[in-house]
Amino acid sequence: MGLSLRAGMMEGVKDRLLRAITSDGCYRIVVCRTDRLVADASRRHACSPLAARALARALTATALFATTDKGYYRIGVQWMGRGPLRSIHTDARPGGILRGYVGDPSSEGADIAKALGGGLIAVIRQDQAGTFTQGTLPLSSGNVDEDLEGYLCRSEQIPSRLRVVMDCDAEGRPEQVAGVLVQPLPGGAGEALLGDRGGLSRELLARSLRADQAPEELLEQVLPSEQVNILSEEPLAFSCACNQDRVERGVAMLGRDELLEMIAEGQSAEVRCDFCGEDYVVPVEGLCKLVDELEESRGN
Ligand SMILES: [Zn+2]
Repeated sequence: MGLSLRAGMMEGVKDRLLRAITSDGCYRIVVCRTDRLVADASRRHACSPLAARALARALTATALFATTDKGYYRIGVQWMGRGPLRSIHTDARPGGILRGYVGDPSSEGADIAKALGGGLIAVIRQDQAGTFTQGTLPLSSGNVDEDLEGYLCRSEQIPSRLRVVMDCDAEGRPEQVAGVLVQPLPGGAGEALLGDRGGLSRELLARSLRADQAPEELLEQVLPSEQVNILSEEPLAFSCACNQDRVERGVAMLGRDELLEMIAEGQSAEVRCDFCGEDYVVPVEGLCKLVDELEESRGN
């Protein structure tokens, strides 16, 4: 098999995503490595090994999933379960920007599906014009990547194979994390390969993928008999859109009376960003400024 590299500028950047198609035009393949960003996410949220693995799977699957949408502004995915982990939330923005958190980062155990419990997966897309669309389905297995694969197949009617594989340290924290998404292109002869006996059956794919492989190696493993052309390459990183200004706008929504009460008690507002774990403080002077602004806008 041969690779024709059109973008090889980012060797040495560990977290990255490659988009490719087979030269016969039958499949699109997306592969990625996410070691650093999932470690960053786990550290920010002080995750238990189980929560770290669940979040790693979700962030990696979301990075792959986002490539199925060309004109998006933001894609959010929520796995909402009834188990002790409660939920997983991720979102992706163009340029490989990802963030996420879990409902209970201290949740322990060996089995992610059990920790998540039965529930729903929701996908929220926001396009450049600010329009939201949402789809919801029952979780197919609770294994996170399989749930998103199920969503692509059932809700979006795109036959897909989406897998995340990881190697963990002795504690069970992810060290090396890789993901693969394969989809037959319209008009190609690809769909048979996704079946139970095909080259992309769940079992065969799971056996052929290794978390320590570079994205180029992963590409070679997915369909070893096919010539693959890389179309693009992009870095992936954990990054959040929160900042002091946004936090203050959020605090202002408490309303004038609530803010005045906090000011009277000499109490500053402390806010933690769910997505990245960053702590913000709006001191009493800041609250006074917010009240002034609210009164000004009311006067106008
Ligand atoms: Zn944040």
